[in-house]
Amino acid sequence: MLLTAAAARGVSVMQAEAVAPLLNGDAVRGVRVRTNGGTVEDIASEVLVDASGQATFLSNAGVIGEKVRGNYDRQVAVFSQVAGAIRDPGAAAGNTLIFYRQKNHWAWFIPLDDQVTSVGVVVPADYYRSKNESKHKFLLRELHQLNPELTRRLPQIEFVEEVRGISNYSYRISNFTGKGFLCVRDSHRFIDPVFSFGVFFAMKEAEYAASAIASFFAESKGEQPNPFADYQRLCDRGQDNVQELIDAFWQHPYAFKLLAHHRYPEDIIHMFAGRVYEETPLP
Ligand SMILES: Cc1cc2nc3c(=O)[nH]c(=O)nc-3n(C[C@H](O)[C@H](O)[C@H](O)COP(=O)(O)OP(=O)(O)OC[C@H]3O[C@@H](n4cnc5c(N)ncnc54)[C@H](O)[C@@H]3O)c2cc1C
Repeated sequence: MLLTAAAARGVSVMQAEAVAPLLNGDAVRGVRVRTNGGTVEDIASEVLVDASGQATFLSNAGVIGEKVRGNYDRQVAVFSQVAGAIRDPGAAAGNTLIFYRQKNHWAWFIPLDDQVTSVGVVVPADYYRSKNESKHKFLLRELHQLNPELTRRLPQIEFVEEVRGISNYSYRISNFTGKGFLCVRDSHRFIDPVFSFGVFFAMKEAEYAASAIASFFAESKGEQPNPFADYQRLCDRGQDNVQELIDAFWQHPYAFKLLAHHRYPEDIIHMFAGRVYEETPLP
């Protein structure tokens, strides 16, 4: 949808795989791509945006730092989609629900449309290995056993998509901006998805990146050591604040509940609404 909108506004779109950055010293000056037809081409750029997600293109190429594992790296997510799950009535039918078993062991339930619900279970990797089950069997059993309220909502489980798994997905990469490049969201950082901030961060950082690039051209910042340092600070602040929120949830669930439901509900709502880029973390 975004790609179509960008093309409609005059952006040239090329379907290709980025295979290597083109460098001039420590500056990125373009990208080598392999087109769908198999041809390899070099494209010069004044600013390269790495939005390659967990493929972490510039990190793998050694242009930025290596992946440093985050607080929640030794976890596994197993997920699929089901039809016919029981939802809440009325306007609440589309709500995202999180089901808790114990620390670092939880499930998501995200309605995608009238019929289909995304379901997934996140567990410590050691626990997953100890079960020695296929992904399909593991997810089926967990969805039945993890939390009675989740069991009630899934009386019959019919997966409408292949059951998939992903592990070790929490990481952070430093120095994700520099001369001629900047990274957006998963290409530089991924934190525990428990509060579903991922797509929000991707969109928000893309918006901030667009402003940073516009001012790079408007203010001729080409000679600065890092023309995108302010953008990097802003991204770090937002993600650090959410990291703190998630840490508080896992490390101090009782205190978190008091803060969220009794002491500072308005402030916590602000954060869940995405107001996480302020100087001072809320509350
Ligand atoms: C288990 C799990 C559950 C999640 N749940 C939620 C949730 O409920 N809500 C939420 O908001 N977020 C959730 N997220 C996070 C969310 O999916 C990501 O944070 C978000 O998609 C990041 O967007 P992105 O644009 O950075 O990367 P992506 O969406 O991963 O996009 C990267 C794109 O780059 C392409 N690419 C990669 N390498 C190359 C290359 N060399 N050349 C060309 N193209 C390339 C890929 O094919 C892909 O299309 C979840 C993540 C996980 C792992």
